[in-house]
Amino acid sequence: MNTLSIRSPAKINLFLKVVGKRADGYHELETLMCRVDLFDIVTLSFDQPSISVQCTHPEVPEDKRNLAYKAAALFFEALAKDHGVSIFIEKVVPVGAGLGGGSGNAAAVLMGLNQHYGFPFSNKEIMDMGLKVGADVPFFLFQHTAVARGVGEHLEPVYGVPPWSAVLVFPKCQISTAWVYEHLSLGLTNCEENYMFFRFFEDLSKRKILLCNDLEQVTVKKFPEINIIKTALLDLGAEAALMSGSGPTVFALFQDRQQAFPAFQKIRQQQGWDTFLVNLLLP
Ligand code: ATP
Repeated sequence: MNTLSIRSPAKINLFLKVVGKRADGYHELETLMCRVDLFDIVTLSFDQPSISVQCTHPEVPEDKRNLAYKAAALFFEALAKDHGVSIFIEKVVPVGAGLGGGSGNAAAVLMGLNQHYGFPFSNKEIMDMGLKVGADVPFFLFQHTAVARGVGEHLEPVYGVPPWSAVLVFPKCQISTAWVYEHLSLGLTNCEENYMFFRFFEDLSKRKILLCNDLEQVTVKKFPEINIIKTALLDLGAEAALMSGSGPTVFALFQDRQQAFPAFQKIRQQQGWDTFLVNLLLP
């Protein structure tokens, strides 16, 4: 059978500032995103009569609500062909965790289909399709550490991120991104006004100040455990710890894997949390 398996990474937000709200209700962000080497595997079986999705995670929908399904439907609509694809998702990235798992899956489907059909669409066209599925999909299509602005459509590559290791802690509670934005007080930002991303990599003391996420204050109200995880990771020697995206996953940065490993071993003993030791995927 004609199949293709694609690794679909998770992302973390090293910086996330909400800069405004558009008239249509969407929030405009400025966010520094980096992929990490925690992967779902998305396998596409081509030339099927219709679109179908199967996922190993029991809570992920296998119908039109699946972001991978939506991506395939948009692709075939643009191709103006009544074709189909079977999509099998082996879920490793925690779901509803602020790690962009579903968006990554959608990007994998768009890239895989475009390749299979001989690149009928330009990168820009594929990015536009991705944006219709979700704000983080263009970032995964971009395949580079980037600052995303607007509602995710303006991407600027970022160079010079050190090859940090990270410990991810998912407290096994899901949060809806929509709920977080509904409860956000605009203007209450913790992030610097004129943020200069190059300063991010200058030295450690500045980095601790510059790591920030405006959504953290909202999610923490629902899950105070986030602060407990952050404190635990900092006590274990992390250079910095922050919630990713709309949460509730917390990541902690370490200079390298050797420094991260003891903290990972310690924190993974904690009941009720899923813990991962990852490297940033650079550039
Ligand atoms: P983000 O950081 O982009 O807000 P997230 O990591 O918080 O995303 P996802 O894991 O992408 O969240 O899932 C969010 C919701 O989308 C879940 O409720 C899930 O059921 C649904 N969903 C739809 N398709 C997928 C998919 N392919 N993988 C994971 N979740 C999916």
